[in-house]
Amino acid sequence: MKTHTIATFLLACGGAVLACTPSPHADAARTSAQSGADPEITAFIGRIRAVDNHSHVNSVAPGDSDQDALPLEVILPFEVPVQLRPDNPDWLAAYKAIYKYPHADMSDAHMDELRGTMQRIAKEQGDTFPAWVLDQVGTEVLLTNRVAKGPGLAPPRFRWVSYVDALMLPLSTRAEAATSPDREKLFPLEDRLLQRYMSNLKVAKCPATLDAYLKMVVTPTLEAQQKGGCVAVKFEAAFLRSLDFEEVSAATASKIYSKYAAAGEPSHADYKALQDFLFRYIAREAGRLRMAVHLHSFNGPGNFFRAAGADPLLLESAFNDPTLRQTNFVIVHGGGIYASHAGAMLWKPNVCLDISAMTLLYTPPKLAEVLRDWLTQYPEKVLFGSDAAAFGPDKGWELAAWIATKNGRAALALALTDMIRDGEVSRARAEEIATMVMRTNAGTLYKLDLK
Ligand SMILES: [Zn+2]
Repeated sequence: MKTHTIATFLLACGGAVLACTPSPHADAARTSAQSGADPEITAFIGRIRAVDNHSHVNSVAPGDSDQDALPLEVILPFEVPVQLRPDNPDWLAAYKAIYKYPHADMSDAHMDELRGTMQRIAKEQGDTFPAWVLDQVGTEVLLTNRVAKGPGLAPPRFRWVSYVDALMLPLSTRAEAATSPDREKLFPLEDRLLQRYMSNLKVAKCPATLDAYLKMVVTPTLEAQQKGGCVAVKFEAAFLRSLDFEEVSAATASKIYSKYAAAGEPSHADYKALQDFLFRYIAREAGRLRMAVHLHSFNGPGNFFRAAGADPLLLESAFNDPTLRQTNFVIVHGGGIYASHAGAMLWKPNVCLDISAMTLLYTPPKLAEVLRDWLTQYPEKVLFGSDAAAFGPDKGWELAAWIATKNGRAALALALTDMIRDGEVSRARAEEIATMVMRTNAGTLYKLDLK
C-alpha cells in the first residue's frame, strides 16, 4: 500500500486527529505484547538480518519521482488509520532510533534541530544513505517497488520490483477512468507509464494487432526489466479493477484489441476480457524470465477503493491456470481483511504472501494472530515486508522502514511464543521459522545470495 504526504492530508482535512484515552482493553493488549513474548525468541529475531519483500524507497536523486507508479498524492485527501497519523508515538521512537533524537516531544524548535540532523546525515552519507538506513533497521536486502531504479539503490542490497499494470491497458482508458473519482486520477498515470515504456523501445504508437503489441511492447519491456535487475513485477490492479482475471482466448482478445487499437472506447466487458488475457500473458512471461509476480491485495487505500475487488480468492482462477505454474505469485499485504483467504491460496504450489503494510497498520498482537494461522500451515510461504515509503514532511521512508521492521519482529516473536507455549513447535523450530520469515523464504524465492 502507498500512502503519502499524510501531514499534508491532515492539514487539508483540518487536522482532525483524535486524542483518545486508551481503553483498558488496549492496555491489556499492550501489556500482553510487552510481557507476552519470550525474551529469548525476541532477542533471536532481533538479530536476524531481514529481507524486506516490499517498499517504495526513494533514491538519492533530487526530487525523485519514480518511487511509485500510482503516487497517492493524486487521490488525497483521505482519512488514514491512526497508526499512520503524525501523532503516532512510533514516529518519535523512529526519530530516536535512526537519528538519535534526544527529546521526548516534537516542539517546533526540536523538530528544526531534527531536520538539521536529517540533512547533515543525508549529506554525509550521499549515495550510501539508503544502505546506511538498512544498517540502522537491521535489513540486509530490501526489495524496492519503483517505476525505475535510481541512484543509491544498487544490488545486492536493493532489488528492483517494476510495475506492469500499464502493459495491460493499451486501449483508451477513458471509460474505465470514469468508474470512480480516484480512478479518474489514476488511469492517466498508467497511460503515461505505457507511453514511457513504448518510448524506451522507440515504438511511437500501439501496433495494429495484439500479436504485434505482445512482440513489440509487452515482451521487450519485461525482458528489459529483467535485464535491468528486476526480481519481480507488480500489479496494482486492485486500484483499477477487481482481481478476477479469467481465462480468455487469444482469438477473443485479438478481436477486441484490433477493433479499438486505433480509436474508440471499448465496453467494460470487452476491455476486461483483453486485460484478463494480458494479465495471464504478462504473468507467464514473468515466469519464463524468472521474475515473481506481486499483487496488491488490501482493503485500501483511498476514498473510493473497492475492497471487495481486492479479495485474493478472486485470483484463484489465475493461480489454478496450469500454464502459470512456472510463475511465482506473491500476495502483497497478506490480503488485509482477507488474510484467511490469502492463507487459503497458500495451498497453491506457486503462491506465497507478505506482511507488508500490516506491519505499519496493525498492532503487533493483531498481526501475531494473523501470522499464527499462516505459520501453523505454511511457514515456508510467509515473507516479511514493510511497505516503507515517504509519508510526508519529516516522515521519510527510513522512519517507516524502522517502524514496520520493529512491529514485524515483535509480531513474529508473539506468534512464535504462543506456538512454543502451546507445544506446537520446539524452540529450535520456532527459531528456524523466524529465520525463514525474516529472510530465507525471500532468499529462496528470489535466489538471493545472502550473507
Ligand atoms: Zn506498497
